[in-house]
Order: sequence, then C-alpha cells, then structure tokens
Amino acid sequence: MCNTCFTHTKTGRMWFKDAKRYSRFMYHRTRVEQTKKNTKRIKGGTAAIEAAAGPMIAQAIDAYNLKDERFPDLMRAANRLHTQVQGAQTLTLQDSLDLIDISSPICFIHCECRKAKFGYVERDRSKMTCLGLGIGMFRWERTPARYVAGAEWVDHDEAREWVIKWNKKGLVQNLMNFGMRNGGPYIGGLCNCSRPDCSSIENRLRYGEKQLIKGERVAIHNKENCTGCFNCVQRCQFGAIAADIRQNKVQIDAQMCFGCGLCESVCNDDAIELKNRKDFSILRYDW
Ligand code: SF4
Ligand code: SF4
Ligand code: SF4
Repeated sequence: MCNTCFTHTKTGRMWFKDAKRYSRFMYHRTRVEQTKKNTKRIKGGTAAIEAAAGPMIAQAIDAYNLKDERFPDLMRAANRLHTQVQGAQTLTLQDSLDLIDISSPICFIHCECRKAKFGYVERDRSKMTCLGLGIGMFRWERTPARYVAGAEWVDHDEAREWVIKWNKKGLVQNLMNFGMRNGGPYIGGLCNCSRPDCSSIENRLRYGEKQLIKGERVAIHNKENCTGCFNCVQRCQFGAIAADIRQNKVQIDAQMCFGCGLCESVCNDDAIELKNRKDFSILRYDW
C-alpha cells in the first residue's frame, strides 16, 4: 500500500481497487458538507489544494528552466500538495484489467497531453490511447466545446482488448485522477502513455514532480538467467534498464523502476520478476 492508500482509504485495499473511487458518490460535488468534514484539517478543503497545485508546479518548472536556485524548495512544496491531492500512479497490465472490471461506463477520450503539447486532438478511435472511466464520462459526452473529441463508449471486453494491445505495443498504463471529490481522489481514466507525449512521465523524470507516483511492484533482475537479448531495454520508458555491453547482460536500477511490468512481459528467459515494492526496505517508502 502506497502513501495514497494510507491517506485516502480505510479499507486496507490498494486505493485504486476500491470501487467507490469510480462512483457517482465520488464524482458529485454536491456533498460539500461531507467534503469539508473529511478535509477540515486542510484550510479551504481539498478544492483549495487542487487550485494551488497547478500554479505552484508551473512556478517550480519555470525556476528549473531559468536555473533559479529556488527550484528545489518550490518543487518540494508542490510535492507536499501531491501527497494530499494524488494525481496518477503507474500500474501493471493485470491491475489495469482489474480496474476495467470494476469501472462503468468506459469510453475512449482524446489525449489531453498530446492536445496540450502538440495542439492536435485524435478523433479516430484507432489513434486514441486514453480510456475514460466512471460516471464523469457523461460530462465529456455532453460538453463537446470543452471535450472536443467527445466520448466513444466501449464495453468491458473491448476495453480489455485495447489495453492488452497497447501494453503489447509498449505503452505504459497510468491511472489518472480527475481531481478530489468527497475527501479523496476520484479515478477518472486509464491512460496508455509513451514518454514523449506524456506530461506526467516527463514532469516526474525531468523535474521530480510527483503527480505520477511509482507502482506497487518493482522489477527485480536475475543476472544468471539473462541472455543479453536486450529486448527489455527499449520497453522501459523510465530509463531504469541499462545494457551492460561488456557483460552482455542488462542492469535494472530498482530505484528508477516504476513497476509497469513492460520489461517482464518480453523477457523469454525468466530473468525479470515483478515483486512487491513494500517487501524491500530501501524501496517501500520510495514512491
Ligand atoms: S497521461 Fe498519457 S495517455 Fe493520458 S493524456 Fe497524458 S499522454 Fe495522453
Ligand atoms: S529481456 Fe530478459 S534475457 Fe533479454 S536482456 Fe532483458 S533481462 Fe536479459
Ligand atoms: S524496469 Fe521494467 S517494470 Fe520497471 S519501469 Fe522499466 S519497464 Fe517498467
């Protein structure tokens, strides 16, 4: 269980496996009183934190790019907010399929990162890589001026097929929150990302912004079994795998691993195993 589990669930389950987080109860903002009650220790409630996080992160990134010495302090402050307003977490394929099973409705939506970075919006399902989950997707369908590509509904079987296909292709599955509702993160989407597009991965790796946190698992390498095929190297979007040409093996840096499992699924020699992060004292608090 990660920090988000401790902060936002009382069930003892991984926070993203709690079906309530995809529900009408979590989506509606009308239960303001309950939100206030759940978050009364935070001045202004979680909505205030959500509003503060964006400008603070922008300020920190500006400081980084301008080589301003205040950058570490600004990013530390932004990351303190992220512990309360969790944004995203990397998942394995199996955890992603479990999410599909407990979410309804499900639809294809355009990729916000590609829209913001490159200024285009996919309107063709074969090019989309984002799945919207839960009741909030009705808003995407009903507000075409804002959500320009709308929402294309899919059933559970088709959604599962697409996620398996994207995973095979090498896209990372990242769970996305669509803001805070009723005292916790409301899960609104399952993104299937590649680093050049993805603001979450890029901002984490380049600036250390913890909007995206690491997954529950970590890849552990068995050097004895490694045959040096290097298939796994190009699968890692987080730079955790290095080709050791001298020894004709790879090296996996567990502290850089986000636990997506993309490397494990292409290793035909049983040289990579996904283990629970919490079982390693050096990794269990490293999210
Ligand atoms: S997180 Fe990934 S899939 Fe989602 S909007 Fe960004 S790049 Fe697109
Ligand atoms: S895919 Fe497996 S065998 Fe091939 S280099 Fe990676 S760890 Fe070694
Ligand atoms: S080492 Fe493997 S599990 Fe870890 S982030 Fe890279 S591809 Fe994913």
